[in-house]
Amino acid sequence: MLSVTDLTVHHGRVAAVQGLSLDVREGEFVGLVGHNGAGKTTTLMTIVGAYRPTSGSVGFDGRDLTRLSPDRILRAGVSMVPEGRRIFGRLSVGENLKIGAICRRERRQVDEDLDRMLERFPVLKKTWHKPGAQLSGGEQQQLAIARALLASPRLLLLDEPTLGLAPLMVDRVFDILEQLHAEGLTILLVEQNAARTIEVADRTYVLRTGGRVQFHGTSEELAAMGDFESAYIGMG
Ligand code: ATP
Repeated sequence: MLSVTDLTVHHGRVAAVQGLSLDVREGEFVGLVGHNGAGKTTTLMTIVGAYRPTSGSVGFDGRDLTRLSPDRILRAGVSMVPEGRRIFGRLSVGENLKIGAICRRERRQVDEDLDRMLERFPVLKKTWHKPGAQLSGGEQQQLAIARALLASPRLLLLDEPTLGLAPLMVDRVFDILEQLHAEGLTILLVEQNAARTIEVADRTYVLRTGGRVQFHGTSEELAAMGDFESAYIGMG
């Protein structure tokens, strides 16, 4: 479904990603881990059209997304939960949610999806009129996920959705992702929490500094490598 091929992305002179290739098949839950600065955020931001690659390509459903604008990529079915959640603090929870559906025209379908989202995330129903800034970190993260889902994506990208959350909230976020995966959504998850990611993902890619894939494998393959988190990711 998603094919990233030989992607190289520079920030000025810094090559944040170099020759990275990865695939996500329809219905798959794929993890992308690696230590700070390995190029994970840059990879996601390039897939959604926020950064232009120096070379390489991003294909989605056989379509070349590489030079498309972010809104066209969103309309093609790729939605992202950005790092740091990016909630509009002065807008209400309801307004934040509706922004997620801004690219869609079928109003009735959007209203139905909104109702279903409030069932899935009851805390957003309770806080509907509250400004986004007044929500806790965990509530904001649920809002960010719900907002991204309201674009009705076929592929959901998430950048560090558990960063800074209390342990119970981390569990809640992983539960939500497992549930979405079970319902058939295709997911590409960037996470610091590598152990937890390989537990829930079908396959995981491990990046090293400079945005190269160090190795990738199924959860069983990576689990069989023992404590690969400290053995490989720690080394950078
Ligand atoms: P983190 O987990 O810390 O977000 P990451 O794996 O997501 O790390 P990136 O944020 O993609 O990594 O950064 C990759 C490299 O590119 C790093 O060396 C970083 O300093 C650099 N970089 C990222 N964004 C920019 C930018 N806007 N301008 C200049 N350099 C950048």
